[in-house]
Amino acid sequence: MTQATTKSPFRSALASVPTYKAGKQPAATSGLTPYKLSSNEHYLPPLPGILETLAEPINPANYPDPSATALISALSDYLQVPNDHITVGAGGSEMLTAISHVTLEAGTEVVYPSPSFELYAQAAALNGATQKPVKLTDEFKHDLPAMADAITDRTRLVLLCSPNNPTGPTISKTEFDEFMAKVPSAVLVVLDEAYWEFITERAAVNGLSALNDYDNLVLVRTLSKAHGLAGLRIGYAVAQPHIIRQLRKAGIPFSVTAPSQKAAIASLERIAEVLQRAQTVAEVRDQFVTDLRGQGWNVPDAQANFVWLPLGDLSTAFEDACVAQSLAVRNLNDGVRISIGEPEAMERVLQVAAEFRQQHYPTA
Ligand SMILES: *Cc1c(COP(=O)(O)O)cnc(C)c1O
Repeated sequence: MTQATTKSPFRSALASVPTYKAGKQPAATSGLTPYKLSSNEHYLPPLPGILETLAEPINPANYPDPSATALISALSDYLQVPNDHITVGAGGSEMLTAISHVTLEAGTEVVYPSPSFELYAQAAALNGATQKPVKLTDEFKHDLPAMADAITDRTRLVLLCSPNNPTGPTISKTEFDEFMAKVPSAVLVVLDEAYWEFITERAAVNGLSALNDYDNLVLVRTLSKAHGLAGLRIGYAVAQPHIIRQLRKAGIPFSVTAPSQKAAIASLERIAEVLQRAQTVAEVRDQFVTDLRGQGWNVPDAQANFVWLPLGDLSTAFEDACVAQSLAVRNLNDGVRISIGEPEAMERVLQVAAEFRQQHYPTA
């Protein structure tokens, strides 16, 4: 009985799970329109047809189609892979947690880049796995040779993110193939392509074509970013059927609601416009990077809908300077991630950035 006071119902693995830290809200400065550039959300208005789809009547008493048959068929047509190569869930996040669930447990190891998407570490810790974060290179890219070296016979899972959130560069096809040649076939490799639609770099690896070459590869994608449907929670994984069958066992039943399934299908029907808008975002991004570099900033290659400023110790000061101008950005301690938004928002960030340089890097 004396032990009861020190006992807890919670798993010890939780001690190493970081608590999600939300970004600061933009200050309500008079006369300034606030802009949220902290979550990589799409800034253009919804595609025509999406809101209409959501307005269609449904019977809320009924569960959605648990196998999301129509949505998977739409994805199959679009991706040109059979239905049994695809599974869907509530965002890429559900795919990543399902993948961690079916591969990781105490005694196993997972290798992932750092800094990268925060969910990788969280999902690993929740499953009790040993984490092997591998520092990015000086160019803020995956250090793939070091990641290959970090693989042991306890490694079950390797996570790759291209373009990498929060830093921006892609993995090239050459780098990817060299890496995969070193990975044992019993290790599952995730290629997180949450932002692939924004890529303009021709040398970048294309997950879909890589799937033909690697049996142990799984792609994670989402309709949250380029499709602008983050609020509807739709993501998917693509892999060989033997992987998809396992992932389906770990998915949350009915997690993609009927309105979300319909909106996703409507968005896939307009894929040409989705990709066109992604190009627009990419052009704004490239101009923003050029302007920042023109001010003297060291900006890594940006291939998604955000830009990384490696500010180090000055990250919080920069975030505060943005907040004061009604701009929410994401402070991730090593740097600040700025999502691409309305032209006025980008202009304002450039002003803040210019003043910040004068104040903090006076000799540069
Ligand atoms: C946004 C994001 C996802 C998926 O987000 P969902 O909204 O859950 O689809 C996955 N990976 C990365 C790197 C992301 O930035």
